[in-house]
Amino acid sequence: MLYLSTRGHPDRKHFCDILLEGLAPDGGLYLPAHYPQIDDAALTRLRKAYHEQGYAELAFQILSLYIDDIPAADLKALCAKTYTAAVFGTGEIVPLRHLEDGLWLEALSNGPTLAFKDMAMQLLGNLFEYELKRRGEELNILGATSGDTGSAAEHAMRGKEGVRVFMTSPHGRMSAFQQAQMFSLQDENIHNIAIEGVFDDCQDIVKAVSNDLDFKRQYKIGTVNSINWARLLAQVVYYFAGYIQATETNDQKVSFTVPSGNFGNICAGHVARCMGLPIARLVVATNENDVLDEFFRTGVYRVRGSADTHETSSPSMDISKASNFERFIFDLLGRNGQRTKALFSAALQTYGRFDLSADPLFADAAAKYGFESGKSTHADRLTTIKDTYHRFGVTIDTHTADGVKVAREHRGDPAVPMIVLETALPIKFAETIQEALGHVPERPAKFAGIEALPKRVQVMPADVERVKAYIERHCQ
Ligand SMILES: *Cc1c(COP(=O)(O)O)cnc(C)c1O
Repeated sequence: MLYLSTRGHPDRKHFCDILLEGLAPDGGLYLPAHYPQIDDAALTRLRKAYHEQGYAELAFQILSLYIDDIPAADLKALCAKTYTAAVFGTGEIVPLRHLEDGLWLEALSNGPTLAFKDMAMQLLGNLFEYELKRRGEELNILGATSGDTGSAAEHAMRGKEGVRVFMTSPHGRMSAFQQAQMFSLQDENIHNIAIEGVFDDCQDIVKAVSNDLDFKRQYKIGTVNSINWARLLAQVVYYFAGYIQATETNDQKVSFTVPSGNFGNICAGHVARCMGLPIARLVVATNENDVLDEFFRTGVYRVRGSADTHETSSPSMDISKASNFERFIFDLLGRNGQRTKALFSAALQTYGRFDLSADPLFADAAAKYGFESGKSTHADRLTTIKDTYHRFGVTIDTHTADGVKVAREHRGDPAVPMIVLETALPIKFAETIQEALGHVPERPAKFAGIEALPKRVQVMPADVERVKAYIERHCQ
């Protein structure tokens, strides 16, 4: 399998070459040159693999379709090491839970940091360690986080050989629980840098360091952001696992509703559907930051400025632009790299928007790719959390609540199960749960008292040179 850029660059690369890279050289995102097709017999084999050998085997078989430069036995071992009941809480790894007629929750948030990002990041940690060792190289991951991504990355990379993590976060702006999840890590290869500023300051620092190409090369700076293809690929697996659990035969279909921000999670659903997994509809659920809902309703993609980006009670979906969206647009445009480039590098740079409303390809987006969308507000989240708790005794987090609210509005054919992806556990967003239910959510035993653990964090002004000096000092 070879990979290409969404902006038409002529290079073709293998999986391990793009694993450690961010964007393609032309600024595009990597995608496989084609989507391997799963026919009826292959789907039956995957069904059997999941039921008889478990999630790790399912992951191995799907990943094998996309990775031809890691020996099969090694890839199998990496999957087996990643997807264990010890790390993800259950043997099913992503168990389905029935809510009401035709509506299911797929649990993706029982990993180490209680958010779905662990599903991909845990695999990424093992892939990075494997590939760096094979090359005899090192990598220093520099990132900016306002919560979930940073802690998932740190928990995936902790103790890994050949990898260091330098994670910036806005000082004093994460919840006590989120701070504890990151700052309590005592691993020597994990460095928390609390910046005296807001999240945008952290992102600006990361950009400035990455733009210093000499520094970047000398200190082997890399990232783990959501545009990494390996993360997306790892996420494809749980769409198959959800489908297999919800159906008995391959002639059945299911739909998914996905709480969305950067379009990474649901883009994996798009890939699964393009492979032939019988998915009827993919429903994008946004919060008040409705860039994606606006696009699927109107055909206009309009990036927001920071003044128009709302701080909400589902903060991991508070985005101004959806960094993975270019992958879907590339497919929607019939994989036309020149057109994709014109939209994302010219139109968005100049006008902050593009408009496909008059394009017949956009009119096809729902019919051909199954996409629909909806949005949810703070009031909707409170109502949905309350209602789900009182009717089913189930406490859902604020992001999942956005999903459940939108899913109910898009149920469609009652014979087609609607699976909502649960993207975090409620304990991460205790304040809003308290507001909705009058009590804080239950805390998994292993997180008891983490706020009181000793913290390993360096507080710093929002100064690029200081951050660079810190990295230099800790790369010896
Ligand atoms: C990251 C995240 C999302 C959004 O996922 P995208 O891949 O950015 O669309 C939703 N919910 C939670 C809890 C998250 O951490």
